[in-house]
Amino acid sequence: MTAAGGTGRTVLELPNGRRGEVAVVGLGASGRAAAELLRMHGHAVYASDAGASPRALEAAAALSALGATAETGGHDLARISRAACVVVSPGVPPEAPPLAAARAASVPIVGELEVALGALPKLRYIAVTGTNGKTTTTALVGHLLRSLGHDAPDAGNIGTPLAALALREVPPAWVALEMSSFQLHDTPSVRPTVGVVTNLSPDHLDRYPDVGTYYADKARLFANAAPTSQWVLNADDADVLALHRRLPTDAPSHTALRGTSHAFSVADGERHRPPEVVPQAHYDRGAGQLVVLGQPLVARADFPLVGDHNVANALAAALAVMVADPAHATPEARRTIADALRRFAALPHRLEPVGTFHGVAWINDSKATNVASTQVALAGMTKPTIVLLGGRHKGDPYTSLAPDLERCAKVVLAYGEAAPIVEQDLAGRVPVERLGSSFDEVIRRARALAVSGDVVLLSPACSSYDMFPNYEVRGATFRRLAAEGSAA
Ligand code: ADP
Repeated sequence: MTAAGGTGRTVLELPNGRRGEVAVVGLGASGRAAAELLRMHGHAVYASDAGASPRALEAAAALSALGATAETGGHDLARISRAACVVVSPGVPPEAPPLAAARAASVPIVGELEVALGALPKLRYIAVTGTNGKTTTTALVGHLLRSLGHDAPDAGNIGTPLAALALREVPPAWVALEMSSFQLHDTPSVRPTVGVVTNLSPDHLDRYPDVGTYYADKARLFANAAPTSQWVLNADDADVLALHRRLPTDAPSHTALRGTSHAFSVADGERHRPPEVVPQAHYDRGAGQLVVLGQPLVARADFPLVGDHNVANALAAALAVMVADPAHATPEARRTIADALRRFAALPHRLEPVGTFHGVAWINDSKATNVASTQVALAGMTKPTIVLLGGRHKGDPYTSLAPDLERCAKVVLAYGEAAPIVEQDLAGRVPVERLGSSFDEVIRRARALAVSGDVVLLSPACSSYDMFPNYEVRGATFRRLAAEGSAA
């Protein structure tokens, strides 16, 4: 959707100049804010939610008061089929009946971000996508922008819905925007000041027919590339570089039209990189420095997050912020950014140090719900580690963890539904103790085995659903039990 009109609040134009009612599907925070925004811009709105939670009911009441038609506990599919456009909240699966109805009736479907961006024509934003590290990198970007004095909230998949920011009396000038592949799919007018791709690997194959379709959605980040666009790309990831190379205007003579690309790297040596890719941000391991735009920015030892992957996230974020505006790369701005990196606290459940008790460091990586995430966590471990692995098995074998475990694990505590499979995959390579489905028991055993200088790492490589409602509750329980038992 594009913004038209003169001063003050702009008017949203529906895709293809369509007219009529807009159907908003999903009444969570984003759907509600998008519906409010549409009403504010004078659109007729029909908003509906399959559920009737207190939150959906409250949203429906608020939207009715604004003159929208709001329905909970189901959708009027015929009405949606007649809509000028459907606005979908993140998280509504593509096969959900209202979306299927819209598609069958050739009604265009866009996301909440499309509406919000249409209402924020002056916004400068750094959009972050990729398979892993989006949330951390986006949080870093927002933190760095704010350290430079900007009103720069985090939005998209984290923080406040962008549409809610667009509703503000004074909307922000900058935003750090996390964008999943699904959000990119539904945001045709995305055109970031800086677009960041952290890395790519096969994921979400439950929702995509193949990896090519998934990557194609990621490539939509570049769909409206312009000469002023800035791109920050992972030089260590051939798929990311290839994604950028097949931009819509792909001929070499169009390079200037596609904007400027910058690369970051944490890999040692250049063997794996195409010769034309020279990273503007890299990790100088020998000197222990994060180097950005030709100069050391901050010492590795002063950046608090664990693991090389977080060095990559920090390099990507710092580079993105520094190329976003010349004022962000002055010597003074560099000092501010370096200070902000030193103060950045780990996000909850992502290699989050929860405390050191009797010399034992307890680390909560409950967000690691697959083997790849746990592998990244283990790669960052430098001390003898008691590794808590288990939960609901997702299908991937655990054998790929063996080399890292051989290096760092004192013992693996296998628990929950996956325990027998973890044991079968790893026993013989590293010491494995099989436990049941009492998390209290798992923590008690970890405490009994740990001595000063060890680490207890919860990085389960499994979903939490056999024992907890979600990974957040699992991580919070780990945090609480670690502190409680250790106080004794
Ligand atoms: P996302 O929002 O993309 O899921 P997060 O920042 O929430 O990413 O990190 C989720 C998990 O992904 C982390 O616990 C870590 O295991 C892994 N991860 C984070 N950053 C990276 C990275 N740059 N490369 C590879 N894996 C990463």
